[in-house]
Amino acid sequence: MDFRDSPQEAEFRARLRAWLADTAGTFPTSGDEYWARQGEWHQALYAAGFFGSSWPKEFGGHELPPVYDVIVDEELAIAGAPPRPSLGYLVQGLGRHGSKELQRRFLPGMINGTERWCQGFSEPGAGSDLASLTTTATRDGDHYVVHGHKIWTSYSDVADWCLLLARTDPDVPRHKGISAFVIAMKQPGVEQRPLRMISGVTREFGQVRFDGARVPADQMVGAPGDGWKLAMTVVGHEREPSTLGYAARYGKLVRQLAARLDGPAPDDLAWAAVQTEMLRLHVRRRLSEQLDGVVHGPDGSLDKLLMTWVDQAVGHAALAVPGTDDPELLGSYFYSRAQSVMGGTSQIQKNIIASRILGLGV
Ligand SMILES: Cc1cc2nc3c(=O)[nH]c(=O)nc-3n(C[C@H](O)[C@H](O)[C@H](O)COP(=O)(O)OP(=O)(O)OC[C@H]3O[C@@H](n4cnc5c(N)ncnc54)[C@H](O)[C@@H]3O)c2cc1C
Repeated sequence: MDFRDSPQEAEFRARLRAWLADTAGTFPTSGDEYWARQGEWHQALYAAGFFGSSWPKEFGGHELPPVYDVIVDEELAIAGAPPRPSLGYLVQGLGRHGSKELQRRFLPGMINGTERWCQGFSEPGAGSDLASLTTTATRDGDHYVVHGHKIWTSYSDVADWCLLLARTDPDVPRHKGISAFVIAMKQPGVEQRPLRMISGVTREFGQVRFDGARVPADQMVGAPGDGWKLAMTVVGHEREPSTLGYAARYGKLVRQLAARLDGPAPDDLAWAAVQTEMLRLHVRRRLSEQLDGVVHGPDGSLDKLLMTWVDQAVGHAALAVPGTDDPELLGSYFYSRAQSVMGGTSQIQKNIIASRILGLGV
């Protein structure tokens, strides 16, 4: 494998670097300020030609190989810019399961950032066991009427649209009675309440109550009962290496921590450095496999687990380096705790690896 940039990749990288030299410092990278301007950041990246690199041209992407996304992630981390907004899993969900009409209507705005989205899957009683969700969508003429309670809904405060899972048939086995919808968030019958994270951030996610909200029947994604298939596509892509471009960010944090030392590195920092390098090489290998046409299934759980280990190793290192009273570093430790929960917990990833990769009878 040759991981050096091709001439085209080098030109793209140089163009991005030049753009970031003027732009990176003007956007906040953490806290509520970051979340407040994330939409603006998304649109700026897109307008400059650095967002949606690998997505279809038909919907506003550039149809480049996935390595371009990694170049973007690397350069954003090096420049100290905010991360690339992560919504590839929603693009994949709608792209694979939505009708052409739904794709044409919704993918361009999702990709260029003019329409904001959230993912309404988890409920207070349905996280790991997503199939037990109780939100209902009941047919009423040309519409469905939605009642229920979603939680941990990232970006719910700014979202125009929600990719929603709701039960449409209570009389069939539970995985088969779930359908997916694109529902408008800004309508009567939708109430969004922010949740405060341990890091103090209040604008990342919230809980959403649907009380008689309406969604046109033609905004169902796929057929009635197809929601589970869409959910598996979405969570599978949440765990894939394209979102693992964060490896670059971890590497930068490790180097920042090392620069603060005036003695030997604490064990936690040395371990974080080793883990970060391991993840960087792992992501490269996965990308190389993708370019060779290898399609990953449950392997995404390995990626997610590795990423979580690295994130938390770096988080621990941030606490271990003397004098790290910087709130941003403390924030990175706090946020690393969420990594083993979001997108499916580490225990669930281990279950998937045991049953679907190792063939153990879990
Ligand atoms: C930062 C963040 C952002 C998120 N964003 C979104 C979002 O945008 N949209 C959305 O829908 N959801 C979102 N989530 C929710 C996330 O998907 C769930 O939190 C996650 O799936 C776990 O569900 P839960 O919180 O209900 O925990 P539970 O499922 O109740 O799990 C509690 C504990 O039990 C363990 N456990 C449960 N079942 C098993 C089992 N079978 N075997 C072994 N251990 C088990 C879990 O590993 C965990 O340790 C987000 C979460 C976080 C932290």
